[in-house]
This record gives sequence, structure tokens and C-alpha cells, in this order.
Amino acid sequence: MRAAASTGCVHVVGAGLAGLAAAIALADTGRCVILYEAAPQAGGRCRSYFDAELGCRIDNGNHLLLAGNRAALDYLDRIDGCGSLEGPSEAVFPFVDAVNGERWTVQPNSGALPWWILSANRRVPHTRARDYLAALTMRRADPSATIAAVLDPRHTLFRRLWEPLAVGGLNTSAEQGSAALFWRMLAETLGRGGAACRPLLPRFGLSESFVEPALARLRVKGAEIRFGARLRALIFGPDRVSDLVFEAASIALDRADGVILAVPAAIAARLVPGLIVPDRHSPIVNAHFRCTPPAGAPFFVGVIGGAAEWIFRKRGVLSVTVSAADRFVERAAPELRDLFWRDVAVAYRLPALPVPPARIVKERRATFLASPEQLKRRPQQTTAWRNLLLAGDYVDTGLPATIEGAIRSGFAAAGLATDCQLQALSPTVASGGPSPRALDTEIEQERHSVLP
Ligand SMILES: Cc1cc2nc3c(=O)[nH]c(=O)nc-3n(C[C@H](O)[C@H](O)[C@H](O)COP(=O)(O)OP(=O)(O)OC[C@H]3O[C@@H](n4cnc5c(N)ncnc54)[C@H](O)[C@@H]3O)c2cc1C
Repeated sequence: MRAAASTGCVHVVGAGLAGLAAAIALADTGRCVILYEAAPQAGGRCRSYFDAELGCRIDNGNHLLLAGNRAALDYLDRIDGCGSLEGPSEAVFPFVDAVNGERWTVQPNSGALPWWILSANRRVPHTRARDYLAALTMRRADPSATIAAVLDPRHTLFRRLWEPLAVGGLNTSAEQGSAALFWRMLAETLGRGGAACRPLLPRFGLSESFVEPALARLRVKGAEIRFGARLRALIFGPDRVSDLVFEAASIALDRADGVILAVPAAIAARLVPGLIVPDRHSPIVNAHFRCTPPAGAPFFVGVIGGAAEWIFRKRGVLSVTVSAADRFVERAAPELRDLFWRDVAVAYRLPALPVPPARIVKERRATFLASPEQLKRRPQQTTAWRNLLLAGDYVDTGLPATIEGAIRSGFAAAGLATDCQLQALSPTVASGGPSPRALDTEIEQERHSVLP
């Protein structure tokens, strides 16, 4: 079956945040947009769902935004979602040492001049102001350098601040993570002062903040949204994509049509011949505990020296995130539940027993591994085909695989499509026609309930 597409449309494939951002930006300029998503819902790796066994909505994983994430806030502004975030009124990062129970709060001052490092109450205990300045060496780090090769891993500041920030932000261990990428992340946040570091969290859920308002806005703008539409292949002409092959139908593109491929890296590499993408991934494990968080408890706590890394307070749930979680992905859910709850109980001053019902979610391929070698594999957004652009957290945004990176890539793709700048040739893409291939999985998530 072949259905003719309308003239001058942009076909956005993949309704994760990159695809949604691209679609929103295009719809806002009055362009005709058709958004295709393989799954029955949008949001990709950033969404919420009702967990029937826990009896509440949970996020697939805890996501933290910072006030300096400008593209993400611009996106939320466009979809009227800024009011759906909450968080502390200032940049405060509470920590607890799981081994000795020591607590402290890192509290950058709001301006760009970082006088907070001079204040013992605002910095990490047992560190000095000059320890922080050592981080400036990352500014000139060789692109092949890892974080642990540039900063001293034996230092208290490394263990109590740089490592948790790097692992959480890059989803990669400090031994493997790129120092240059970590520097870029710090420069956009901590480097711009506490006002850019104020933490922001969805008040109700990721979908309520990032996904549902975007779909509503797209519908108001007349964009068409097709769920259950899995792209199986692209048909390539000499310099253009001529057809989109979905399971149910093929769509012949008009000369004025554009395509933004906003699918995960591995799927893009199977659809676009010769495309080089990051091919090593890093897991994230989340544990959602059904319980009543203590009133007035912090929005989140960083844990040093425990199994949990960051713990988030939600409505009726306390939720643990462990990034670069290779050491946990093979362990059994009941074991992880007990291990993580020990840290939650310490951090939020709750009884160690009984352990509440929990949902363990393992995302084995949560993001690409942000190592210097893998960063070299990030592609540009333009391709050898004039009407084909790429978007997604894996493209070369200069940022780690984050909400901010995904949204920035979506906006950039929309800009390129709008400006008709589709002629650039990417050196990472070879020309030639592909054969349609089966594309079966994109999100590999394992969910384990551990109920009493
Ligand atoms: C557990 C976890 C925790 C995270 N924590 C944070 C955090 O705290 N802060 C932060 O900023 N970021 C965080 N991230 C990263 C962030 O979620 C991702 O970077 C971002 O959501 C990626 O968006 P994307 O649109 O690039 O890709 P995706 O979300 O993967 O979207 C791609 C979409 O394409 C669809 N698709 C795939 N194949 C096809 C096809 N053939 N045809 C049609 N559609 C297709 C998929 O179903 C999916 O909806 C986290 C990620 C995970 C998994």
C-alpha cells in the first residue's frame, strides 16, 4: 500500500524528547508536521507510567534538570510546562555519607563569581577553596583524557563532589568518562553560578511535564501524530530519501518534504547506511519504593560510599538512581531492593525494616558510554541526503546524553529543516542504497517488582 504524503511536510520519526522538540519547533513556525512513533506512547526514555503492582505512577527513571538547561526550559515554555516543575528555591545539593552518616550541603552562590568555595558551610567538608580551582585543569584537558586522569581520584573533593556529579551527568564512571565533556557540562551549569544550578524536578511525572503537554500542543497546531508506526526502512535516491517504509504502509515523499530521524543511535545506524554512532552503552538502575516520604524532606539527596547514588522524593515514592550501574545489572531484584533501601533509610532517617514494596527498573542501554573513544563516533545532524536530518541525544551536541542534549538536537534539526540547509554532507555517512532491514527493539528495559 502506498499513501501520498502532503506537500512540504516534515516527517519526524521517533517521539522521544528529540523528536518532540523538533516537532514542536516546526509546528510553532507553521510547518506541516507528521510525527511517527513505534511505541503506543511518546516520551521514549523519558516518560511515566502506571505501575499496577505498586499502585502508583512512576517515571522510567529519575531525571534531574538544572535551571541552566536553557533548551529544556525553552521547550517547556513552548508547551506551557514550566509550571509543572518543582525544586528547591536555590541551588542546594544535600549529601550524606552512607558509611559514617555525616551530612553536608553544597550550596553555590547564585552569581557567576564562585565565592561559595570560600565558605566552609557551603562547600564539601574537609576541602579547601584551592581544591576547587584544580578543576580548571579540565578546561585544557586533552580530548582523549578521562576525568580520573585529570582530577586526583584520591582527593576528598573528587569522591564527594566531582565523581557523583560526573557519574550522574555522563552516566559513565570517572575512570571511563571524558574530562572534556564533563568540563562542558560544568561550564554550562556550575560555571555560570548557582542560579544555573538550581535543581528542577517534575512535580507529578516526566510524562506530565515533558510529553503530554507537547502532544496537546502539537494537536492544537494541527500536527498529525501516529503511534504504533515503526519505520522499517528508508528508500534512498542519489541525494534524497524518496520513501519511508513503515510496517503498514510506505510513504512517498514529495520533493519539498523533509525527514528528521529521531530514533535511538542503534536504530538510526540500521536505517542509514554507513552511519557511525556510539556503539557502547551504559546502564542505569532505578529502585522505586512505595512509601510516604517524611514531610519536609529534601527533594533529593546524594549518597557517598553507599550502593544508592541519588535518592529522590516523589509523591508516595522514594526513588533511587544508580548511573553507570554495570555492577548492579546482573544482581537479583530482591537483593538490590534490600541494598538500596539501607541507604534510603539512612538518607531520609527512616526505619531500616520493614523494607517497603519496590519496583526495580534496569535500563541496560540507558545512554551511550561517554568515553573519549565513543564521543568520536557522534555524528553530525546533516547527512549525505539533502532531506534527511538526525536528532537524538547521541548526535554531536557537545553535551552528554541528557534531556538538554536531546531537546537541543531536536531544535537544531528543526532549524536546519526550516532553513532548508539540507545539503551538507556528513563525512561519517557513506552514500549508497540500503536494503530494508527488520528493526525490532529500541528500549531495553527490565522491570522487576519486589512486593512483600
Ligand atoms: C533511566 C534514565 C535516567 C536518565 N536520567 C536523566 C537525567 O537525570 N537527566 C537528563 O537530562 N537525562 C537523563 N536521561 C537521559 C534522557 O532520558 C535521554 O537522553 C533522552 O530522553 C533521549 O531522548 P531521545 O529523543 O534522544 O531518544 P529516545 O527517548 O530513545 O527516543 C527515541 C524514540 O524513537 C522511537 N523509535 C525507535 N525506533 C523507531 C522506529 N523504527 N520507528 C519509529 N519510532 C522509533 C522510540 O520508541 C522512542 O520513543 C536518563 C535516561 C534514562 C534511561
